[in-house]
Amino acid sequence: MSIFEDKFRDLKGEFLMAKSPRALVAGNWKMNGKKASLKEIRTLAAKLKDRKPKCNVMICPPATLLGEAKTAAKGSKVKIGGQDCHTAQSGAHTGDISAEMLKNTGVTAVIVGHSERRADHGETDKTVCAKAEAAHAAGLTAIICVGETLEQYKANQTLKVMTSQIKGSLPATATAKNTVIAYEPVWAIGSGLTPTVKEVAKVHTHIRKRLVAALGEDEAAPIAILYGGSVKPNNAVELMAAANVNGALVGGASLKAVDFLGIIAAYE
Ligand code: PEP
Repeated sequence: MSIFEDKFRDLKGEFLMAKSPRALVAGNWKMNGKKASLKEIRTLAAKLKDRKPKCNVMICPPATLLGEAKTAAKGSKVKIGGQDCHTAQSGAHTGDISAEMLKNTGVTAVIVGHSERRADHGETDKTVCAKAEAAHAAGLTAIICVGETLEQYKANQTLKVMTSQIKGSLPATATAKNTVIAYEPVWAIGSGLTPTVKEVAKVHTHIRKRLVAALGEDEAAPIAILYGGSVKPNNAVELMAAANVNGALVGGASLKAVDFLGIIAAYE
């Protein structure tokens, strides 16, 4: 049995799903990157040419670089995504960007509900749900982020928080084709800390079950559930092999093509 097959079993070894998700390794550049950074996308595209990872690959640069990032990735395996969108498709919202506008740049997906947006901009599950719905309406895949704080982790509240965040952030428009979930413990982001592989497997299996409860097995089974939070080339293999982990959302280690390729290597 390969590690890929193993991921579709629950913690007791029972098969959870009929259909396996296609894994995704996505890079979130956050508020980093200028024109000079586009060379990292060109390097990534060139290096992936002869490689056949069993995952999709995506970079989510800042909005200022989306058009040029699309050009840099043209004809390659690298997809480009946005980092956030507004809940409305147009209107009087100075400084904001809608899902339709993102779609118009040629991107295929957008991250919604990243914990930095939840913390810095007061985004609630309701806001995140509306943003995911706007992404779906524009024809984009919504990468919906969930994750507990350190306080909640220490209080053993992680699964409870996941239940309520999935319930509150997942719109009725979610399907197997337009939704990816990213589990990112807030305390693991940018800290160099990660939960144990056993903890990651437990949370991802819980999220899979919540998705099955919300959408039914056929829609929930092929949804990729990414792990995010201090994923690096040296821990990617063990984290990606955990049950119900179908890829990674990567911050710091996605800024340099060489590091990001080291994470993608977990799927080769
Ligand atoms: C993130 O911000 O989505 C993230 C996972 O960051 P890092 O990999 O740097 O922890």
